[in-house]
Amino acid sequence: MNPLTPSARETTAVQRHARATPGHAGRVAAALERLEQAAAAHAPRIVLATSLGAEDMVLTDLIARHRLPIAVATLDTGALHAETLALVAQAESHYGLAIERFAPAAEAVVNFVRRHGERSMYESIEQRKACCALRKLEPLARLLAGRTAWVTGLRRAQSAARAEVPFEQVDESGRVKLNPLADWSDADVWHYIGEHGVPYNPLHDRFFPSIGCAPCTRAVALGEDPRAGRWWWEQEGAKECGLHVAQALPQHRADAPAPAERLAAEAQA
Ligand code: SF4
Repeated sequence: MNPLTPSARETTAVQRHARATPGHAGRVAAALERLEQAAAAHAPRIVLATSLGAEDMVLTDLIARHRLPIAVATLDTGALHAETLALVAQAESHYGLAIERFAPAAEAVVNFVRRHGERSMYESIEQRKACCALRKLEPLARLLAGRTAWVTGLRRAQSAARAEVPFEQVDESGRVKLNPLADWSDADVWHYIGEHGVPYNPLHDRFFPSIGCAPCTRAVALGEDPRAGRWWWEQEGAKECGLHVAQALPQHRADAPAPAERLAAEAQA
């Protein structure tokens, strides 16, 4: 049975999560200062790689509001929710900026699907990683080509795997990777969104705290881990697509749902 009450279903993500916590204004100022310093050091070769998630919308707002010379780009994997695609256009219109799109090579996707099927990501971690490599990692490499720094919305509060996220690091390619919201809580993100009228993905209102590709994202229950809706059929340690964490592949869970079971479960959600 779905644990959500009708009243909980009717609330927005801002209503559920936004709170003015001590130090919020200072964290906003610090994030802006990190962005300004990074822009001064790296423009025009710095980019925000946005998934259009709540944190990335905060960063987009900071960049646009303060006219920082930081490009904004996203990966159109070909498997995104319609709501996410609509938000790209909405953000462009709202902020008067162009969001660069990077998509996988169409022929490679067609060949992959022809060979492995539409639902191969559910069959094994290797198949899922192969799909992520094709639809995300290869386009990301093009997104980052020629850039000396990139900005992400990674936060320590997002998952145990991200608990040590630093404000700044150097990625495997030697490129500077900035995580200006590393110390922000969910309350910080949603308080900022509410205060500044930041456009956000309506799926967040429908209990999708973390949004990726449609086949690999589901809603979560109140109190459930925010990352529980991503690749939910895998063990916790595997829940990265390779964009941010490189680690050993754990075993595929024996109780992973078959596609038909997953679809049935989704229909009841
Ligand atoms: S998140 Fe899912 S659909 Fe998207 S690239 Fe990875 S496996 Fe493929």
